[in-house]
This record gives sequence, structure tokens and C-alpha cells, in this order.
Amino acid sequence: MKTAYRVLLEGLTVMAVLAWTAVPAAGAEPGAAVAPAPLSAANPPPVTRLITLGTQGGPRINSTRAQPANVLIVRGTPYLIDAGNGVGRQLALAKVPITRIGRIFITHNHDDHNADWGALMGIAWSLGRKEPIHVYGPRGTESMLLGFLQYFAPNVANRTFHSAGATPPASVFFAHDIQQDGPVYQDENIQVTALENCHYHYLPGDPGHGWQKSYALRIQTPDKLVVFSGDTGECGKQLTEFVRGASILVHEVVSLPAIERRIRSDRSTSYSDAQMAELMTHMREEHTTPEDIGRLATAAGVGQVVLSHLAPGSDELPDSAYGDGVRQFYSGPVTVAQDLMEFR
Ligand SMILES: [Zn+2]
Ligand SMILES: [Zn+2]
Repeated sequence: MKTAYRVLLEGLTVMAVLAWTAVPAAGAEPGAAVAPAPLSAANPPPVTRLITLGTQGGPRINSTRAQPANVLIVRGTPYLIDAGNGVGRQLALAKVPITRIGRIFITHNHDDHNADWGALMGIAWSLGRKEPIHVYGPRGTESMLLGFLQYFAPNVANRTFHSAGATPPASVFFAHDIQQDGPVYQDENIQVTALENCHYHYLPGDPGHGWQKSYALRIQTPDKLVVFSGDTGECGKQLTEFVRGASILVHEVVSLPAIERRIRSDRSTSYSDAQMAELMTHMREEHTTPEDIGRLATAAGVGQVVLSHLAPGSDELPDSAYGDGVRQFYSGPVTVAQDLMEFR
């Protein structure tokens, strides 16, 4: 089903002749999500635009929400935050050419967040991009690039046999493991800082123990501070301080009763009581409820909350199932994001 907002985006060409101003997206709080207005001298382009490309939480594929990804466009330069499956298509729908993506930031290495950054780089290369594309992510990102170059090699052989001198992908694709909390990247538009959040609780002996990291990302632009929670459980004071003063907090959200109902009704998998208990512990401790997001947003004094990475997501629940709990503890604007909403 097309969202009202997507219809609005697709109608832009027709609407460009009309001098309409920012309009709240369907279902959004006034002043939160806005439709892009035609640009003119009286209406200069916004410095910072955030588009939620994919708002589904977890690896489920469905027809209503794409896998997690966001694009932050600062003075016309797009930066990608997470790259779930289908991100190239979502960028096209947002009217952002994938050949313009030069910087990608990955919050953590669950495949709903990292599945397509290699594919995205590869397609940009196949379309002729020669300028470097850099991806920054937790440990494992650099080794993933080595694997992707191998995966991509047959395509390279196909596309370059008649054009000696084509830029080799290894001269275009670059990966950087984030080694620790703190500054990750800076250019003339953005300053990116990472903080390990509370998504992982590996025990000694677990394969991920001691090296898997999940990060929240804080991105300062010339006029906005945008914080992405990444996937995280309730994380206490450290995350509150990291989020403090955010103009926009993009936070993951889980409805615990709904996710439990969904897992129990999933006919393709049957869990024992012990497995079910373990899964719900993961949902409770490694994801965040609406109420905890509301408390965090108030404690950190954020300007607005954008709920994305919805679990169970799809369109199983009304927006109120995610938003009302936030509003109990936070009085600012709260938007339950759909794919392709824009915030500025
Ligand atoms: Zn996720
Ligand atoms: Zn995750």
C-alpha cells in the first residue's frame, strides 16, 4: 500500500508549479515531518534534511516497510546511516542518486542494518562512480569489504573486459572499523561521534563476546544535531548525555506485547517455553519500549522524537501503539515514521 507521504513525493513534479509550503505528513505531529516545498530564492534549500528510508525493525521483509536505513542530506550532500536490504531502491524513491553516496555509517552488524552497503557501493561503481565511497562501522566492517570485493569480482570481470583502465573497485571502496567511542568522521558538513549503546550483552564464550559493538551515532550539522540511537536497550546516563540537546532523536522502538503475540502466532517457527523466554528477554533488554524513549527524550531535552526501526513493525499496529507511551513521558513532537518521511 502506498503511504500518503509517498504519493505526495511522487506528485512533486506536478505540484512544483504551486507555491505550497511545508505540510505535515499524514499521521505526523504538526511541525514534525514535512513535505519538501519547491525551491526558490524565497525558499532556499534547507541545510539539513533527514529522510527515513526504511523503518521496519529486524530482518523481516514485508510490503509496507523497508529494512532500516536513513539518509541525512546536508547542504546537498547525502550521508547514509545504515543500509538494510533494498536501500538502493529506497534512495531512488527519495530521489537521491546512489552514485552520490560517498559516506556510509553502520550502527551495528545485524543484517537488517548492514545487508546492502556492499551492494550499494557495487551498483554505484557499475553506474560509473570513480570517487571513493567510505563505510564506517563496528569491527567486522573492514573484513566484510574484503569479502564483498571477492563477491563482486565476477561482475567486475564482466563489466571491464572491454574497457582497460576502468577504475578497480578496490580504489573506490574503503572500509573503516570504528575502534572506540568518540569521533568517527568529520568534513565541512558533518561531525560524527559514536557511543557504544546497550544492544549487546554477550557472555564469555559467546561468539560475539569482547568484540561485537553496537553504536549510537551523534551527527552535528551546521544547523541541527541529529542522534540515531541504533538498536539499543535502555542505556542509562551515558546515552542520555550523548543524546542531550538533539534537535532530532531517531530512536528504535519495540512494542513488547505485540512482538510477543507476533512471535507466538508465527506458524513457520515454534519455540519452546525456554526459547520464548530467551527471545522476550532479548526484546526487553536489547530494544527499547516507548515509555523508556519518552523518559530519555525528556531527560536529554531533545527537540523532537522520530520513532523508526519499529518492532513488530509492518503495519500490524496503529501508530498509537508506539507513540502513546513516548507521549506519556515527553511533551515534544513525536512521529511514528513511515518510509520516505522527511524531517528538516
Ligand atoms: Zn535492527
Ligand atoms: Zn540489531
